[in-house]
Amino acid sequence: MLFPTHLAAGYVVGKRWDLPTRPLVVGAALPDLVDKPAAMVGLVDLYQTAGHSLLLLVVGFAAIFARRELTPLWLGWASHLLLDAFHMLLNGRAADVLFLAWPAVEHTPAVDLPPVAFVGQYLGTSSFYAEFVVWGLLVAVLVGNDEGE
Ligand SMILES: [Zn+2]
Repeated sequence: MLFPTHLAAGYVVGKRWDLPTRPLVVGAALPDLVDKPAAMVGLVDLYQTAGHSLLLLVVGFAAIFARRELTPLWLGWASHLLLDAFHMLLNGRAADVLFLAWPAVEHTPAVDLPPVAFVGQYLGTSSFYAEFVVWGLLVAVLVGNDEGE
């Protein structure tokens, strides 16, 4: 999914379940903020590594038991991984969901592009159009907030 859509999804989740939206949005941004720059400067070979690892997400879940206030951040992080996996399935790239198993499983994805090039190949795909659902939910949440005030 596109980076802004992850942010929108984090905000929607926070509003929908009455959770703090700021840490949710930060958590939703975290995987791309960690992994994309790391790949762009050559620290890793792929654009989805540590921040997109389900294994590290599970480790992060343990941190919730130590500090409960990290729950919204973790939920945002989890939403990012879920949406990225969903986008790959929707675009017929089921094998690429193996990104979740990094670093336990080495997998070369069918699409592994820097952010700007990624957007170019992504526009017009099924997942791209599915992102409008998230944006529609964001509008509904924002309009709903206005009506409640
Ligand atoms: Zn991502």
